[in-house]
Amino acid sequence: MSDQEPRTNFIRQIIDEDLKAGKNDGRVHTRFPPEPNGYLHIGHAKSICLNFGIARDYQGRCNLRFDDTNPHKENMEYVESIKEDVRWLGFDWGEHEFYASDYFEKLYGFAVELIEKGLAYVCELNAEQMREYRGTLKEPGRPSPYRDRSVEENLDLFKRMRAGEFPDGARTLRAKIDMGSPNMNLRDPTLYRIRHGVVHHQTGAEWCIYPMYDFTHPLSDALEGVTHSLCTLEFEDHRPFYDWVIENCSAPYVPRQYEFARLNLQFAVMSKRKLTQLVDEGHVAGWDDPRMPTIAGLRRRGYTPSSIRTFADRIGVTKADNSVEMGMLEACIREDLDRNAPRAMAVLHPLKVVIENYPEDQAEELTAKNHPKDEEMGARKLPFCREVWIDQADFREQASNKYKRLVLGGEVRLRNAYVIRCESVIKDEHGEIIELRCTYDPATLGANPEGRKVKGVIHWVSARHGVPAEIRVYDRLFNHPAPDADKSVESFRDHLNPDSLHTLTNSIVEPSLAGAGPGRRFQFEREGYFAVDTKDAHPGQLVFNRIVTLRDTWAKLEQQMAGKG
Ligand code: ATP
Ligand code: MG
Repeated sequence: MSDQEPRTNFIRQIIDEDLKAGKNDGRVHTRFPPEPNGYLHIGHAKSICLNFGIARDYQGRCNLRFDDTNPHKENMEYVESIKEDVRWLGFDWGEHEFYASDYFEKLYGFAVELIEKGLAYVCELNAEQMREYRGTLKEPGRPSPYRDRSVEENLDLFKRMRAGEFPDGARTLRAKIDMGSPNMNLRDPTLYRIRHGVVHHQTGAEWCIYPMYDFTHPLSDALEGVTHSLCTLEFEDHRPFYDWVIENCSAPYVPRQYEFARLNLQFAVMSKRKLTQLVDEGHVAGWDDPRMPTIAGLRRRGYTPSSIRTFADRIGVTKADNSVEMGMLEACIREDLDRNAPRAMAVLHPLKVVIENYPEDQAEELTAKNHPKDEEMGARKLPFCREVWIDQADFREQASNKYKRLVLGGEVRLRNAYVIRCESVIKDEHGEIIELRCTYDPATLGANPEGRKVKGVIHWVSARHGVPAEIRVYDRLFNHPAPDADKSVESFRDHLNPDSLHTLTNSIVEPSLAGAGPGRRFQFEREGYFAVDTKDAHPGQLVFNRIVTLRDTWAKLEQQMAGKG
């Protein structure tokens, strides 16, 4: 599945040791547990590749489990998008699709068990009081006045919570652990809260009490027989409670939690709450906007699943928090497409060239290789005629010797075609160049004749045969490497890059691209990698997204800014 053997990491080492020690009857069972409250992002891809990758490599199993204990923020659109994204990344959970809500009845039973053991109680403190009683990192908490209720009273109250007798916030069920614990998560954490009037996407209106994530997660793992429950570092402090729950409920299995560092990507935000804000406030055109770090966005942008898997493998899995350069992700897709994307020519900012010595009524078909190194990708026909488009950036009236493109009175090779010479320039009334008058040398098809020095090669498209296309050129969505870590601005939105999208509506592509279907990827020679948009392109209306430039222009820019360039 991955392009190379997956690299080992500390979690794989733990699994190797567990297997050697004969733990879990030699089973390896992981799970990927998204909450369906948004679309998945590239950080989730790291977790997906880790969990599903381990299951694959150890002949184990990975469950897809929706952690759906917060119904007011969740919906089926998110459930469906998550399934689509995991599948697209190349992973298959088979039959093993679960919902924490599948276990609501069992979880209720475990809560009753805790009450019966004197390890849980119904509390009437409101949220604010509870915060106050909890204490701080420096000061211990105080016991709730409801902490010492009898088992009978607790059982009765919990039953009545379930039956809907109390309004939202009037009661909670709490674990009875230790209000003096240095770990705040052990100061009688909430197990259940009341939520009326929400229709859960799986259980409808059946429940008005919902279990907390920290109570639900270990028990879901246990019920599914998960051996290694892999989560991100912010749950490290929750692990003692995870283990407490497993120890004190008669859970059918003892899963173990291991934490790894979450992926942070520079020039992006990754929290679902912030991504939701970008979508809801219209800063982007939806969850699959090609500038979004969501899997849906990357897919629409033109990323391949294998490039994302390669990325996940290269960044590795450690316990050290860090922030990965966007350039690393881009390098992965660049390498993939350098190998696999057919070449084509597209003129993004067209400038007309008239070849005066080429007969007006003539046209010929030249041949171009689809890939410089891969013969199997074949060749295509390129029509050539008296008028062609070149890019505005490929001509200057005057330029130094370093400029390897076309200048007035100079020569350049049209890629896969002839050498042309610029004889004169036509300008409009504002002095803008609108047309070049050139001549061509019919003897230059294929090779340069002896003794001729033509420094530059530029791309072009036949004006008579070219096809108009809209081209969307993307840049970073944010202009700050850590938009949500900068405390000097009010909001991460202050770092939105106003130039993150340039839509070019006058571009012309070679005619072989006329029928290119949604999602097809190409290298436009000298311009970058592009994919046909999957939403807005239709027969007769070509729309391309720029996936990535040919080279890492950002690294160069950053070097220059640091004074190294
Ligand atoms: P967010 O903070 O974006 O809302 P989350 O952790 O709340 O993310 P979940 O749906 O609960 O989102 O995440 C599902 C799984 O993906 C969890 O196991 C979580 O640890 C993991 N995950 C989430 N974000 C990242 C990330 N940036 N890097 C690696 N793993 C992640
Ligand atoms: Mg979460």
